[in-house]
Amino acid sequence: MMTKNELLLTILAEECVETAQRATKSIRFGIDEIQKNQELNNSERLIYEFNDIYAVMEMLLEEGVISTIIDRDAIEKKKQKILKYMEYSRSLGIVQ
Ligand SMILES: [Mg+2]
Repeated sequence: MMTKNELLLTILAEECVETAQRATKSIRFGIDEIQKNQELNNSERLIYEFNDIYAVMEMLLEEGVISTIIDRDAIEKKKQKILKYMEYSRSLGIVQ
């Protein structure tokens, strides 16, 4: 039998996978594509999945498993790191 926290962490992992899947579908079929039998396009579904992640993170915060969700400094550092390695990819001719 798993604990509530273990269940939340399992759901978090699942939601991260769903977000990753929506990101790769957006690359394969386009961000505006609406999959058959769906109402939302890939852009809207990406937001939906991210909010699923955020919901679980809020529950983990409420349970005291994590101490915060948004760390503005960490977000800015990550953006800089992405830009740095984007330049590296460009220098290799991999990215436009
Ligand atoms: Mg989901």
